[in-house]
Amino acid sequence: MENKETNPVKDLKEKLFMSSKTGMQKISKDEVKKADDFCVEYKKFLDFSRTERDAVEYAVALAEKNGFVEFSPENTYKAGDRVYVNNRGKALMLAVIGKKGVKEGANLSIAHIDSPRIDLKPSPLYEANNLALFKTHYYGGIRKYQWLAMPLALHGVVAKTNGEVVNIRFGDDENEPCLCITDLLPHLAYEQVEKPVKKAWTGEDLNVLVGSRPYDGEDEGELVKLNVMSILNEKYGITEGDFLSAELCLVPTYKTRDVGFDGGLMGGYGHDDKCCAYPALMAAIDTKLPERTAITVLCDKEETGSDGNTGMQSDYLRYFMYDLAKMDGVEGHHAISKSRCLSADVNAAYDPTYASCFEAKNSSYVNEGVVISKYTGHGGKGGTSDASAEFMGEIRTMLEKNDILWQVGELGRVDLGGGGTIAKYVANMNVDVVDLGVPVLSMHAPFELISKVDIYMAYRAFYALFEG
Ligand code: MN
Ligand code: MN
Repeated sequence: MENKETNPVKDLKEKLFMSSKTGMQKISKDEVKKADDFCVEYKKFLDFSRTERDAVEYAVALAEKNGFVEFSPENTYKAGDRVYVNNRGKALMLAVIGKKGVKEGANLSIAHIDSPRIDLKPSPLYEANNLALFKTHYYGGIRKYQWLAMPLALHGVVAKTNGEVVNIRFGDDENEPCLCITDLLPHLAYEQVEKPVKKAWTGEDLNVLVGSRPYDGEDEGELVKLNVMSILNEKYGITEGDFLSAELCLVPTYKTRDVGFDGGLMGGYGHDDKCCAYPALMAAIDTKLPERTAITVLCDKEETGSDGNTGMQSDYLRYFMYDLAKMDGVEGHHAISKSRCLSADVNAAYDPTYASCFEAKNSSYVNEGVVISKYTGHGGKGGTSDASAEFMGEIRTMLEKNDILWQVGELGRVDLGGGGTIAKYVANMNVDVVDLGVPVLSMHAPFELISKVDIYMAYRAFYALFEG
């Protein structure tokens, strides 16, 4: 008699196929609880870190509280020492010195802390029909209509000619005013709605309303503008010319919220890529005595192509590695060439509402864990580094060994569009690198969605790389 319990076909499938169980069923209740707890602090980080400058400020304070000190190439460091390099207040490198230093290469986790937003132009302020407005130039890949008719805050710095740098955070507090870009009423949008989305809103339409009351006094013209300038002068000590030497960004004002009746997701601004930056930062903080030096980089300018001295096409990581290598008595390029890197960036999560844009078998899904992307790019793998099979194998083994929930994912359907990460710039330094991050719904929207389980798994992956 055949035993009812055995089913040879089922057994063989179990042995040979990838598991089809959903992620949430693979992990314990205890693990889910840990994920939820991890996100309590993440939400604080995200609410503060609207721009890369905000994120560096938060990360430096947290790192210092946890024993990190500013790195000096003149000093020597021993295993377990914790250092950081602050690159112009916009990018940050943290290192926990390993027992072997960088002699056999370093372990790197690199995430970006800039997010799509709306920047002010160098000469932004003007008055039209008794309203004061700012001209803007958007930063990164935004869908322009998503930024209209919603409360915005202004974050950034103004460098004055007396050498003083004024920090501005305006509009976060619901008891103070905020700023806003207006939208056209549907009653008068009959012509606009006939246009393709690309043409319905142009960059020059993204003007921000910043004032409506005139300055009290006897003069003709520009009194609303004068009133705004006089408020800014009183508050921050700046004049109109100071806008030229400023970096001011418009960002959403609302706080991160749990999403869904079960609260399993989090909605917020700037998950891309703070939902990888925060786990990478926490992995650095929790790493105590690694074999190889563990380096976390929080970089800037990814959303505009990684150019500039704070982006990953800059040499600052290379120089830092040279300094570390010199301390260990090895050539910098040898240390770099033996290094391994997780390019910690988000991927597009499969969205059933836009199913035709994805290929279901090779997409990432929320709650299925961290997503590894062997390559990004567009078309026939254009503009990507494409991790080697061997390095994919190494990382996959690491994830399995540590019971970390993971999945594979491409960014959408082939030939539909595409995107890139910092992976290729690190790979070009002759480092083994692969993209590993959190799947995101509504990526680049001012309210992006991620899963609490996925971000926690990202933390566990970066930690495993450092301490494993
Ligand atoms: Mn990103
Ligand atoms: Mn992005």
